[in-house]
Amino acid sequence: MKNNLLRVNLVNLRDFGRGNYRQLDDYAFGSGGMVFAAPQLKAALDFADIEGVKPFVIYPSPQGALISQELIESLAHQEHVIIFCGHYEGLDERFVEKYVDLEISIGDCVLTGGELPAMIIIDSMSRLVPGVVGKSKAVIEDSFYRGMLDNPNYTRPFDWEGLQVPEVLLSGNEKQISRWRRHESIKRTLTRRPDLISRASIRDYLADKVGVVILARDENIDLRGLISLCEAYNLSRPFVIAKSHELRETIKNLYPEAKVLGSLAKLSDGQNTLCVKIFSGSRENSLHSLEVKRRCLEHEGSILFIFAQDESELLDERLEGLSSYLYESGLNGLVPLNILIGTALDRFLGKR
Ligand code: SAH
Repeated sequence: MKNNLLRVNLVNLRDFGRGNYRQLDDYAFGSGGMVFAAPQLKAALDFADIEGVKPFVIYPSPQGALISQELIESLAHQEHVIIFCGHYEGLDERFVEKYVDLEISIGDCVLTGGELPAMIIIDSMSRLVPGVVGKSKAVIEDSFYRGMLDNPNYTRPFDWEGLQVPEVLLSGNEKQISRWRRHESIKRTLTRRPDLISRASIRDYLADKVGVVILARDENIDLRGLISLCEAYNLSRPFVIAKSHELRETIKNLYPEAKVLGSLAKLSDGQNTLCVKIFSGSRENSLHSLEVKRRCLEHEGSILFIFAQDESELLDERLEGLSSYLYESGLNGLVPLNILIGTALDRFLGKR
């Protein structure tokens, strides 16, 4: 606030109360608890409203949407947020219906008032304002930002009560350190919060070698489109597998930049390649996308996402020695290959 990065104004609801006692609440019809009355709340809202900027009105409430990093990120885009802190039984429902944009709960427990939730909301929003946290990279690496938990952290002394800092962190080897950090994040998220994986951006946590393979039946592949799609997901150019020499030559002529091979076996580095065969239509034994994401995260070697113009070839394709999983997109074979590839890449590697 001192650096003008954000402004927080406190408005005392009492100032809008009725009579000598500046009364705000009244007995709840039916239950007898105390409830904040709508006219006083409205008077406070009118006062807090800044001309020209439509405020986004929040009511912290145990019945609201559970707070999350995603929710806070979308709130951080709001220029002007007004938070109504409840007390006793809360606010008159008619005020909530008419003027509250979002109810937010900080967890499945009941507090005496909305003040602490308001501070939680303000604090987590403010961390996303550029300049509030000294090192902006730190914000990105924190838990939840990419949907994964942060790695554990250590500082001096190296030896404390018989416990040492993991050796790798002192090695000075950037590559090994970042591999260790990725690995720890994955381990923590999978054991503590596997539910997060569905909404996590996992691209940065996967081994560097992640590729797309297309089994070609003919040359009707929009390879240029696919190359830019792969670039968007930070992947190298897709591999095209064409069985016949003739088709390989045709594709190379059409797309000199293509990586064309005669068989999938050429791509594997032994046991260390995980293959995910992706079908548009339904397949028995196919995995849920969450499970595919989980196995990709657990896998330390390269990963290949395999698509085919003719999906029956996907089943025929023998992948000796490679672990291979099936995944069905649910698109029912109704979409062009490019769209299947785009949606599948987004599901597994996209930003949350
Ligand atoms: N009668 C309400 C609880 C009121 S608690 C109910 O059962 O739903 C009093 C006030 O504390 C609420 O109006 C709200 O502003 C705040 N509060 C309590 N628990 C909260 C939670 N988990 N998240 C956010 N705000 C909460």
